[in-house]
Amino acid sequence: KLLQKFKDRAAQLDMPMAVRKVFDEELNKLASLEPSASEANVTRTYLEWITQLPWGVYTPTRYSVEAARQVLEEDHYGLKELKERILEFVAVGKLRGSLESASSVAPKQDSATSSSDSDGSTTPPPPAPTPAPQSDRLPTPEGKIILLHGPPGVGKTSVGKSLARAVGREFFRFSVGGLGDVAEIKGHRRTYVGALPGKIVQALKRVGTSNPLVLIDEIDKLGRGHNGDPSSALLEMLDPEQNREFLDHYLDLPIDLSRVLFVCTANNLSTIPAPLLDRMEVLEVSGYVSEEKRVIAERYLAPQAKASAGLQDADVVLERSAIDSLIKWYARESGVRNLKKMVEKIFRKTALKIVQDLGEEKLPEPPLPADAAAAAVTPATEPSTDSPVTPLTQPDPEHDQKIHPTTTEKRAPLVIPPSVHVRITADNLKDYVGPPVYQKDRMYEGPGRLVKGVSTGLGYLGNGSGAVMPIETITTPGKGSLILTGKLGEVIRESAQIALSWVKAHAYDLRITSSPDEQWLSNRDVHIHMPEGSIGKEGPSAGTAILSALVSLGSGVGVRGDVAMTGEISLAGHVLPVGGLKEKILAAHRAGIKTILAPAANRADIEENVPDSVKEGIKLIYVEDVREVLKEVF
Ligand code: ADP
Repeated sequence: KLLQKFKDRAAQLDMPMAVRKVFDEELNKLASLEPSASEANVTRTYLEWITQLPWGVYTPTRYSVEAARQVLEEDHYGLKELKERILEFVAVGKLRGSLESASSVAPKQDSATSSSDSDGSTTPPPPAPTPAPQSDRLPTPEGKIILLHGPPGVGKTSVGKSLARAVGREFFRFSVGGLGDVAEIKGHRRTYVGALPGKIVQALKRVGTSNPLVLIDEIDKLGRGHNGDPSSALLEMLDPEQNREFLDHYLDLPIDLSRVLFVCTANNLSTIPAPLLDRMEVLEVSGYVSEEKRVIAERYLAPQAKASAGLQDADVVLERSAIDSLIKWYARESGVRNLKKMVEKIFRKTALKIVQDLGEEKLPEPPLPADAAAAAVTPATEPSTDSPVTPLTQPDPEHDQKIHPTTTEKRAPLVIPPSVHVRITADNLKDYVGPPVYQKDRMYEGPGRLVKGVSTGLGYLGNGSGAVMPIETITTPGKGSLILTGKLGEVIRESAQIALSWVKAHAYDLRITSSPDEQWLSNRDVHIHMPEGSIGKEGPSAGTAILSALVSLGSGVGVRGDVAMTGEISLAGHVLPVGGLKEKILAAHRAGIKTILAPAANRADIEENVPDSVKEGIKLIYVEDVREVLKEVF
C-alpha cells in the first residue's frame, strides 16, 4: 500500500530521468526490506521527500510592467528609485522574454509516466505541469542576483515579497544570519540520524513550484563555517553557472535551481564575502525622512495594525500629532520597524481598554446560526493583516467538517458599539507607549556653542544606518599621551592620532599656545571618547570631527552646536572623501542638525545620489582642507 502510494505520487510528477531512476531503485529497495528495519525507515522518508518535490511544476512568470507597478505601489510608499529599477528589469524581461526561453530547458515530458490514473488518492494532486515560462530570471546585467542593501526596517523584505507577487511567483524567505553549518544549505547526508535536505529543497517542497522567488535575508551575517564554508555553498546555490545542477547532500541528486528567482538582502556590504558580492547587482534601499515615515504610518502601518487589533470598524483614530511625536521622540531610526511596533502596541492597548471599559459581558456578540454555534468560527485561512476576519453568518458545510472539536471555543469578532470613540494624540500618547525614549534632539545641542572639547560627528553604523556621534575630549595631568575609548577600531584610532598631531603641529597658529616654541599638552594627557561606548566604531570618517573637538579643547572655544561633520583627514590637513553620506544626512535630519560639512570630493556623489527630499532643510558645505572646517565651526 505504501509502495502504491509512492507510485501514485510519482505518476503525477514530472521527474527528470535521473530522479526517476533513483526513485525506482529506492522503491525496489523498500519493497525488499523488512518494514521494521531502520533502513526501511530511512528509505521511506527519502521517498517521501522526492515524491513531494515539485518536479516540473512552474508558475508562469508574469512580466507586465503595469501590473508590477501596481503591486509595488500598493505595498509601498516612496522608494521611487528602487521601484523604477525593478520595473526596468520587468520591462527588459518582457522584451527579451521569448529570446531567453530558447536557452532555458523546457520541462521534460515523460510520456510513460505522465498518463496518471488519479483515483482520488490521499495526496492532493500537484498543480498540472505548466509549459515553460517565457523567461526565468530577471534580466539583470550578467544574470546577477538582486541584492537589496540598506538599514533595517526600510522595506527590503517586504519589497522582495512584493516583487514575487508582481511577477507572479511563489514566495519563500529564509535568513542565513548566523548560519554556520553548510548542511543548512546543502542538507545532511542520508546516513545521518534525523537527516534533512537543505533549506532550498525544503523551500521547493513548501511552495510547490520549481520557480519561486526565494529571499535570502542577511547574507552579510553569514556565520563562519565550523563545518565547511557556508559562503561557497551559498554561491553554489546562487550561481547560474552552477545551480542548474545543484547537489543536495540528502537527495544526492542534481536539482535544477536555474529558474528560482533569488533575491538577497544585507545591511552591510563590507562583510559579504567578495566572491558572493561579485555575483550581486546591488540595489540601494535607504532610510526615510520624517515626512515619509509619517505617510507610511498613516497609509500602511496604522490601518494594518488597526485591523489586526480587531478595530477596523471602530472609531479609533491615531492622529497625525501622535505619529509625528512617535517618529521624533520614540522611534528615531532609519527605517520604520520600531515605529511599526509602537503603532501596533497603541492599537492593542486601545483594544484592551475598550474591552475593559465596556465590560466584556456587555459587548454584544453577532448572532450565530444555531447549528453553526457549536462550530463557531475558524477562519479557513490563517488570519492575516490584509484579510479581515469576517463574522461567519452562513454555515459552510464543507468548512464545518474540517473543524477540529477543540476549536469550538473560538468566538466570532465582537461588535464594538458606535458609542466608542478613541483619539490618540501627542498629548495622550504617553498612556499608550510610556514616556518618550528620547528627551532631546541629541546629546549635545545648541542653540549656541557646545561645551569646550566637544564636536558633532556623523557615523555610519554596521547595520547600514547613519548616526550623529558626539566626540568628547578632555585633558588630564600626564605626559602627552593619547587615551581612546568608545570601542574604536584601528582606523578610527589612527584618525585620532593624525588629528592630534596636526593640532599639536599648528598649536601656535591656532592660538592654542602663546609662542611657537611652547608645546601643547607637554604635561597633560588627552582623552578622546565617542559615546555610546558599547557600539563599535570604525573607519576614517571621524577625522574632521575629532580635529575640531581637539582645537576646541586647546583653544577653549566651543564649536557651533548646529553643525555636524564627516571627512577623513591627512597629516597635511586635506579632507578626503568618505562613504555612507546619504544615511549620514538622514541621521542629521533626525537629530535636527542644520549644517553639514562634507568633503568636497563627495560633492558629485551627493548631488547625484541623495534625493532633494533628504537634503531639504540642510545646508551642505563642501570642504577640502581642515582650515575651512575650522572656519565654519568656530
Ligand atoms: P527590512 O527587510 O528592510 O528590514 P521590512 O521589509 O521587514 O524591512 O519592513 C519593516 C516593515 O515596514 C514592514 O512591515 C514593511 O511593510 C514596512 N515598510 C517599510 N517600508 C515601507 C514603505 N515604503 N511603505 C510601506 N510600508 C513599509
